[in-house]
Amino acid sequence: MDAFAAQRELVAKACRIIGNLGLTKAATGHISARCDGGFLVRARGRDEVGVRYTTAGEIIRVDGDGEKLDGPDGLKAPQEVFIHSWLYRMRPEVNSVVHVHPKTVVLFTITEKQILPIFGAYDPTGLRLAVEGPALYDRAILIKNDLLGEEFAAAMGRARICLMRGHGITTVGPTVEEATLAAIKINELAEMNYEAYLLGTPRSISDEDIKTFIPGYGREDGGNTASDGAMPPLMGNVRSSWRYYATLAGEN
Ligand SMILES: [Zn+2]
Repeated sequence: MDAFAAQRELVAKACRIIGNLGLTKAATGHISARCDGGFLVRARGRDEVGVRYTTAGEIIRVDGDGEKLDGPDGLKAPQEVFIHSWLYRMRPEVNSVVHVHPKTVVLFTITEKQILPIFGAYDPTGLRLAVEGPALYDRAILIKNDLLGEEFAAAMGRARICLMRGHGITTVGPTVEEATLAAIKINELAEMNYEAYLLGTPRSISDEDIKTFIPGYGREDGGNTASDGAMPPLMGNVRSSWRYYATLAGEN
């Protein structure tokens, strides 16, 4: 009996949702979940079929340094496993990491355009992400060793989302569902901003209106940090949002 079966299935499902929603390019990208002795992560290698078609058998277990502990011979930890290992090492509040390459978000990393808080009631979660402001990792390289993993995690700091210039995004959460929804929501926010820039000059909504959604807005930390340093919840309805996007992606 595989003690990690349910967790493997959840990570695989998150991969399929992200893939089906078009949030990453070809086979690339990986999602992980912290587990006993290390973490579970989507593997790469000759036996993989791509994020969109990920099965639980492609979710391998690695130790805290990213070294493979189990899984088929034709699969190994992704080159960029160091994104995951360093975030788990440096951030005890993080239990899941998503790393993907969504085109529209990447466009914002390669221009001087900012992702702005352009809506409120349209999608309060997207507003929260815009106000929190994603971190930026300014290099376009693969995070393929411990030195770069540490550098990347330091650049991300306490942020929920990190944009990676000319590369992709990394999101984190206390659960697989929240880390995945953060990736979906930053992509939706970026798509809306992108279209607004095409149509004209987007402008941010007022501080007063932002405050109705994020009461701590305007404080030094932007209302983004709870007293224990944890991230505030991404949204109030994680379960129903998860169910919605899973269904949209053909799951269930
Ligand atoms: Zn990457």
